[in-house]
Amino acid sequence: FPRPLVAGNWKMNGLRASHEELIKMQKGYSAELKGKVDLLICPPATLVHAFAHANLGSRIGTGAQDCHAQQSGAYTGEISAEMLADCGASYVIVGHSERRQYQKEKDADVAEKATAAHQNGLIAIVCVGETQQEREAGRTLAVVRKQLKGSIPAGSSADNLVVAYEPVWAIGTGLTPTAKDVEEVHALIRSDLRRILGKVEADKVRILYGGSVKPSNAKELMSVPNVNGALVGGASLKADDFLGIATAY
Ligand code: 13P
Repeated sequence: FPRPLVAGNWKMNGLRASHEELIKMQKGYSAELKGKVDLLICPPATLVHAFAHANLGSRIGTGAQDCHAQQSGAYTGEISAEMLADCGASYVIVGHSERRQYQKEKDADVAEKATAAHQNGLIAIVCVGETQQEREAGRTLAVVRKQLKGSIPAGSSADNLVVAYEPVWAIGTGLTPTAKDVEEVHALIRSDLRRILGKVEADKVRILYGGSVKPSNAKELMSVPNVNGALVGGASLKADDFLGIATAY
């Protein structure tokens, strides 16, 4: 099985003072835990450089939450994958449902961003997941397959790709799918990845579950077949909660 990854997406939260929480996470990342699970924090872009520097030697990875598809140029306010790599990031989340919703990002945009990430040596965490309406209409599997197909670019491998399944209705709501539902979607993602990348490579890709993961439900969710870690929002802001989830392994 791929080595599990517990990743924290801080979204638009965190000031320079949040450094203290990162230090607590570093202290709590025991040798035993290091033996079992990789940890990653994706703070807002303003903190990527400081966190990457602080994480040197701690084995906690640093990632960003988005990148632009172009390397540089007249795109006011945007941040390129090259810039993130230059700041010390090693991962970048692309296609998070909040960006698909608020920035109207489409699968093709997500694939271009993932390509930019790969070209700059970053691991792309490609997010997919259905809305409540899509689930109720019985379209979950079709939606996830379409997103996967459109969002994973050529040149992807287990070394530069992580997939995160985040049902939109489970994000920040306290609701989670049943273990059986998670198992069904993750199995589908694995089989589609085999088709896209070939079996050997696909079986090494980490597929994360995200959406209301907490210390109290982490064990159940993380023990589902083909769940190779978690993408955690709210509960990644506090070291105790985040480490509590990591110890589910
Ligand atoms: P919550 O853990 O707050 O539900 O957020 C999940 C998420 O969107 C992580 O990317």
